[in-house]
Amino acid sequence: VFVSFEGGDGVGKSTQLALVAERLRAAGHEVVTTREPGGTTLGLQLREAVLHGEHVSPRTEALLYATDRAHHVDTVVRPALERGAVVLTDRYLDSSVAYQGDGRALGAEEVERLSLWATEGLLPDLTVLLDLDPAVGLARLTGDPDRLESAGAEFHRRTRDAFLARATAGGERWLVVDAALPVEAVQEQVRARLDTLLGE
Ligand code: C5P
Repeated sequence: VFVSFEGGDGVGKSTQLALVAERLRAAGHEVVTTREPGGTTLGLQLREAVLHGEHVSPRTEALLYATDRAHHVDTVVRPALERGAVVLTDRYLDSSVAYQGDGRALGAEEVERLSLWATEGLLPDLTVLLDLDPAVGLARLTGDPDRLESAGAEFHRRTRDAFLARATAGGERWLVVDAALPVEAVQEQVRARLDTLLGE
């Protein structure tokens, strides 16, 4: 079973992912937790390059994320799914569609096509979208902002709208949760949906 956590910066993806992982492990599942960009050694180098390195064009940025994703799926996600593990990823291709497709205005369809080519069509069984006003999410972050976090308010509004529009059009694969709710209330909604998915 393959689950992705999506949403803007500071919405609580890593917190929710860690809570889900802990609970599924306690129930006896093999759980692989991972992230994009940066779920592999090459991915960490790409993450550093795209977030802190030389400035690159939107097209180059999209290709760097697609490279990270192709290698991540080949070496981490597919092998884990093939041995029956539950894979929880902090971001996946919907981030590219929202950030590069709409945020960077490359076009959602083109970026989706690139991502599906990179992953040979692998889509999550469930995508949890943690939805939050970007101003609230960004205010939750601590430390030095990376290039994307310091992009303008308009950029973050576009990506939020893109995630929501995709979730609305995407049907069954999506669960949208109001990330302004307390951590435990968000977790409860994620838990209910996952239990259904896992038949528990
Ligand atoms: O979620 P995480 O902190 O790992 O994301 C790192 C940064 O990369 C964030 O600022 C996020 O907005 C950005 N990002 C992006 N396009 C992606 C994935 C992440 O712009 N496809």
